[in-house]
Amino acid sequence: MRSGIGIGVDTGGTFTKVMAVLRDGTILRERQMPTRPDAGPRDFVRRVSEAVRQEEAELGARSVGVGLAIAGDVDSDRGLVRFSPNLRKFDRYPLRDALAGELRRPVFVENDATMAAWGGFVVELRRRAKNVLVVAMGTGVGGGLVIGGRLYHGSTGSAGEIGHTAVEPGGAPCTCGARGHVEAYAGSYGIVRLARTFLRGRRSLLNRLCPDPSKLEPRLVAEAAGRGDAVAKRVWREAGRRLGLAIADAVYLLNPDVVLLSGGVSRAGRLILDPVHEVLREQPFKTPFEAARVRIARTANLGAIGAGLLAFE
Ligand SMILES: [Zn+2]
Repeated sequence: MRSGIGIGVDTGGTFTKVMAVLRDGTILRERQMPTRPDAGPRDFVRRVSEAVRQEEAELGARSVGVGLAIAGDVDSDRGLVRFSPNLRKFDRYPLRDALAGELRRPVFVENDATMAAWGGFVVELRRRAKNVLVVAMGTGVGGGLVIGGRLYHGSTGSAGEIGHTAVEPGGAPCTCGARGHVEAYAGSYGIVRLARTFLRGRRSLLNRLCPDPSKLEPRLVAEAAGRGDAVAKRVWREAGRRLGLAIADAVYLLNPDVVLLSGGVSRAGRLILDPVHEVLREQPFKTPFEAARVRIARTANLGAIGAGLLAFE
């Protein structure tokens, strides 16, 4: 029986995904539209409303609510973005209230990694693990927490920001302005920077796969490593060990059942997972590390799915 649909909207800097899901996370429909951040939030709200109405009309169902996932510093209590690097014109605009006013149904606004945490908890883990850390690995490294089976926000909605864990004092520059944060090693820009550094003066398959170094991306570094390239393998080991240090800190603090890696960079699979496991195995305090399973999410678009599922809560 179809007990209503939830609509998840994952707002990227370039494209926005709109997804209709059932309560168990089954995706009924998905569409993509341009975000057009320069046109401003009013235009965005109007086009999202249209897309939601179209989804509903095509499915012949009214949604129970809409979840809006956005990368950046999100105030979920007020339903707005305090700061989002890709959506500068959206800062402080009352997104939730504007969208709820257009659509006349509940709207929830959360950080995209928080939405991915909810999606991972419901879809990947079937709510069986109660304490879950999701590490969302894209351009940056985000994170979201489910504690005791509920989303954990912290006091300002900033909980779970594992990407800004310091792993190297004075190290590589992070997008936040600080140095040595794990994102600067394991986010896609960090991986590309490592690859450029390790490539200097060395022969590598990467030079053939990507003759223009400005076009390097993690997918190519993974391909080269998969084919045995030493430089590319070194990149993943370095990125994975730094990520392992950050995850080890989080495990000491939170004692999770599961750490789920999601997002484009996690597609590297064992290349990133093996060095993470290596660091966790090296920790002398065994109990929390034997309990914490670290694995890679099988489901793509957990942010959009989680946003749609949150509408049911
Ligand atoms: Zn940072």
